[in-house]
Amino acid sequence: MAIKITDECINCGACEPECPNNAIYEGGQEWRFSDGTDLKGGVTSKTGIFADADDAQEPLDYDVYYIVTDKCTECKGFHEEPQCAAVCPVDCCVPDEDHVETGEELLEKKAFLHL
Ligand code: SF4
Ligand code: SF4
Repeated sequence: MAIKITDECINCGACEPECPNNAIYEGGQEWRFSDGTDLKGGVTSKTGIFADADDAQEPLDYDVYYIVTDKCTECKGFHEEPQCAAVCPVDCCVPDEDHVETGEELLEKKAFLHL
């Protein structure tokens, strides 16, 4: 499943540079499918977003750091464990029960993000 960041986040910023998919953004920051990925042109995501990869998308949180579900592979294909959770000092990077995915599905998502 994807990882999510809870309201316990203290905005330390430690997790953002660790994400291999550039799925983590600071609160209030716009996100893009193309940030840190190979996505170009029209994209249809697993959660049903259709957009140009370079289009700026509305922030998903304005107060704390957030994770874009469509870009989180739980670090599958890169690392043995979620890197955001590994570095977070307050343990607020937790499994997102609303977005449960198998290891195979997460690897498919990695292939979607990176050529
Ligand atoms: S689990 Fe990995 S891919 Fe997902 S947001 Fe955290 S660092 Fe990024
Ligand atoms: S490492 Fe944890 S506390 Fe720091 S910004 Fe990321 S989610 Fe928030």
